[in-house]
Amino acid sequence: MGKFDETIVALATPPGEAALHLIRLSGSQAEDIMNACFQTRSAAWLRGDVSVLCLGWFCDDGKRIDQIMAARMRGPASFTGENVVEISCHGGMVIVHRILDICCRCGARLAQPGEFSKRAFLNGKIDLVQAEAIIDLINAKNDLSADLALVQLGGAVSEAVKGLRGELLDIVASIEAHIDFPEEEVELVQADVLQTDLIRVRETMQEALRASRTGKIIREGIVTVIAGTPNVGKSSLLNALLGEERAIVTDIPGTTRDEIHESANLGGLLLHLIDTAGLRKSEDPIEILGIARSRKALEQADVVLFMLDATRKAVEKQERMLSEQEREVLVQYADKTIVLVNKTDLLYTDMRVEIAAKPVREAGYELTCIPFSVKARTGFDELKTELRKRFLDGFDMYRQPFLANERQIEAVRVGLAYVEKALGALGASVPFDLVSLDILRALEEVSLITGHEVREDVIERIFARFCIGK
Ligand code: GDP
Repeated sequence: MGKFDETIVALATPPGEAALHLIRLSGSQAEDIMNACFQTRSAAWLRGDVSVLCLGWFCDDGKRIDQIMAARMRGPASFTGENVVEISCHGGMVIVHRILDICCRCGARLAQPGEFSKRAFLNGKIDLVQAEAIIDLINAKNDLSADLALVQLGGAVSEAVKGLRGELLDIVASIEAHIDFPEEEVELVQADVLQTDLIRVRETMQEALRASRTGKIIREGIVTVIAGTPNVGKSSLLNALLGEERAIVTDIPGTTRDEIHESANLGGLLLHLIDTAGLRKSEDPIEILGIARSRKALEQADVVLFMLDATRKAVEKQERMLSEQEREVLVQYADKTIVLVNKTDLLYTDMRVEIAAKPVREAGYELTCIPFSVKARTGFDELKTELRKRFLDGFDMYRQPFLANERQIEAVRVGLAYVEKALGALGASVPFDLVSLDILRALEEVSLITGHEVREDVIERIFARFCIGK
């Protein structure tokens, strides 16, 4: 059963007019409160059966308030691990307020934001990774990020973290047992064994960090800058991408809001589109401001779509006009640039694509050039494929679970630094008890991810190494 005295209640659906609303009650008094307010003929409910869903009337001192469906779950077999009742009532806010009021009069109090999940965590029903996955699932902007959150909720990430913790715990326990109980018959740790174990842990952590970059891209999206001289078709591309599938996004981390025009889904990837004000030399202060902003956008971009115009007049102009700044940009950001040679619908031959791309190829080493036409809708599939190759290559969320957010990534990053330190110390023949301190810190950091208690586990592991009866 749960560890909390107070029974909490809250509206689980967004406030406002709706067909239905869901109110959730959780805590030791949840059943008593319902028994005081609920009239039903359901034999299963009246008998006190577990996991019942039934129809009845929610009443205020015998007076009917609304006809509802009530679901009863008993702890620990519920989301919070406590006794839980879920009330589906009709979707008017007057009804909702009345029901909440009555529940509070009967002994519940209104829940704080996230309190149900917090209780689930504190009652050991979910770990921190899963709690965060619930939020990610709710906030998911496309199929891929929803799937990713589901994998995390299912516990794959927690399992991976558990494996890592297990390895670190074993290392700490073997050293500590060695130090604390030298007279006992515990195997002595050897420096080379310790080193091999630590190197393995380091690899696991490095791999986790590498993979989580992909996870971040899927969840948060790809900051995409559309660059090129005026009239190449930047706005047309922006509109076409938005026309494909407009994504509703409210918060883009690490990017200035006013530069983001819109976000779009392309081939399952979320693109945050920034149309640069141009990269030309200018005396106009407003343009200069725009250029400074463009530079910043390029800096932050995950990918730059650099557009060129393939038509003859434009090509001739481009050859002369690919400005110094543009060349500079291409060189500087070559590795994140994809060149789109636009307006190929106006060409009779593909030759000109090569001609158009020549100056950028010269400027920016091996650039990926895609023949494109916003108007004729060609090149979009190739762009999709290229983006997926760049950002999702070899990615399998079911095989390689990802860390979900900065908090989790930071914990591994700091933990990894301690593992490196421990390895350095081992190499310098520092005494084991000092090396152990670093590994313990690494373990503490990794444990932050799921929110596990370190002390208890270390003690348990140490004693697990002793024979039964000792
Ligand atoms: P921006 O200044 O770079 O934003 O360029 P725009 O998107 O405003 O496009 C400039 C002109 O090129 C417009 O008249 C567009 O209709 C036209 N345009 C854009 N893409 C294509 C294309 O793929 N084919 C053709 N034929 N015209 C295009």
